[in-house]
Amino acid sequence: MAQSPQDILNWIKNDNIQVVDLKFIDMPGIWQHLTLYQDQIDESSFTDGVAFDGSSIRGWKAINESDMAMVPDPNTAWIDPFMEEPTLSMICSIQEPRTGQPYERCPRSIAQKALDYLASTGIGDTAFFGPEAEFFIFEDVRFDQTENSAYYYVDTKEGRWNSGAVEEGGNLGYKPRYKEGYFPVSPTDTLQDMRTEMLLTMAKCGVPIEKHHHEVATGGQCELGIKFAPIIESGDNLMIYKYCVKNVAKKYGKSATFMPKPLFNDNGSGMHTHQSIWKAGQPLFWGDGYANLSQTALHYIGGILKHAPALLALTNPTTNSYKRLVPGFEAPVNLAYSQGNRSASIRIPLSGPNPKAKRLEFRCPDATCNPYLAFAAMLCAGIDGIKNQIDPGSSLDVDIYDLSPEELAKIPSTPGSLLEALEALQNDHNFLVDSGVFTKDFVENWIEYKLDNEVNPMRLRPHPYELSLYYDV
Ligand code: GLU
Ligand code: MG
Ligand code: MG
Repeated sequence: MAQSPQDILNWIKNDNIQVVDLKFIDMPGIWQHLTLYQDQIDESSFTDGVAFDGSSIRGWKAINESDMAMVPDPNTAWIDPFMEEPTLSMICSIQEPRTGQPYERCPRSIAQKALDYLASTGIGDTAFFGPEAEFFIFEDVRFDQTENSAYYYVDTKEGRWNSGAVEEGGNLGYKPRYKEGYFPVSPTDTLQDMRTEMLLTMAKCGVPIEKHHHEVATGGQCELGIKFAPIIESGDNLMIYKYCVKNVAKKYGKSATFMPKPLFNDNGSGMHTHQSIWKAGQPLFWGDGYANLSQTALHYIGGILKHAPALLALTNPTTNSYKRLVPGFEAPVNLAYSQGNRSASIRIPLSGPNPKAKRLEFRCPDATCNPYLAFAAMLCAGIDGIKNQIDPGSSLDVDIYDLSPEELAKIPSTPGSLLEALEALQNDHNFLVDSGVFTKDFVENWIEYKLDNEVNPMRLRPHPYELSLYYDV
């Protein structure tokens, strides 16, 4: 239900809410927040925004031009269930205080621009996204963050057989066997109550919920299901999802991670993303082509597959992302599409004879992405496919993991590392910038930020496994 700024001000007054918490996403995808006393928010907060120092936010402004403004979206208001004091919370976009224009590196504003771009092409007016974020619950995680250390330790009492860490003293009865976490009942599933609380808490925050279950990996891997939604709402929902998962886990004395591959040799965590575009209330992906797809949908797929290596720099933006994209763990490795085939990077779910349910599932993304940037980039790639009528080639209706090396060599594969994905983005970003959705500055800044803060620091550190391999040489 649409809410006006006045509705929010009335809510604060009528319920005597003392504090209002404003949340916004930074470039790498973490929520930041500022809490205001009730009399600090008025009509102008919703137009001019609330000032903050942008120079301390990762990847944003320089110190000499640090003033920025966060503008709350009244439609996102909810009472934050994790605060003692009733706290009205809203999600913000970032604007330049001097011009009132959206800040070009604000991810939520970039998603809005992608939607505006879709409308400007005349192709459609709504883009739906349905992310399926998986995560692990861990009992005990320690890492030493000092500059010179490579020490990292992860352990879980939920049942880990292969991470290499030693578990002592636990009762190992009723543990999911290797790759059998999907999905025996309690007492093997020890996370039922926690997941139910996560799911119901999300609903209280306004996220439309569907289900939850244990996932395949042994180490407490879980997934909660939320409904698909228009691009901005879907990004907002995913951020609330991560917030609820992490905070409920903390309440139980545990921690949650969305890292794509926390455990060696077990399934990783993806964020498969279902998507479709609509016009005037009508779905555009239903038709009489392969798997009941329209020509528009097939071209959209063509765009995603063509730009996938570059796209992954935004949908799979961490060094750890590429440890998930390896054969044998239900994660996609090859760039192909297929109906119902989970080994293809694009799956067309069997959706029955309902045109409104016709969608595609891009299985590469993981939840370390910034959802607004990832959705915007996927939409740009799909639109590029439609505008340029990019042929997706033929579908691949076999288990890709079973193909011979010769057959496999013909199928393009996902980049092998974040560095490769960033190089692909360096060479292929016109589909993002020509439309004005992303600026060239954004793309250059993204590549530089990721190289300086993640790829190179990771490359320069001795790895614990290197010690195991080479210590005695
Ligand atoms: N965990 C798998 C992945 O990394 C997906 C499992 C599933 O199909 O839900 O993509
Ligand atoms: Mg799953
Ligand atoms: Mg899926």
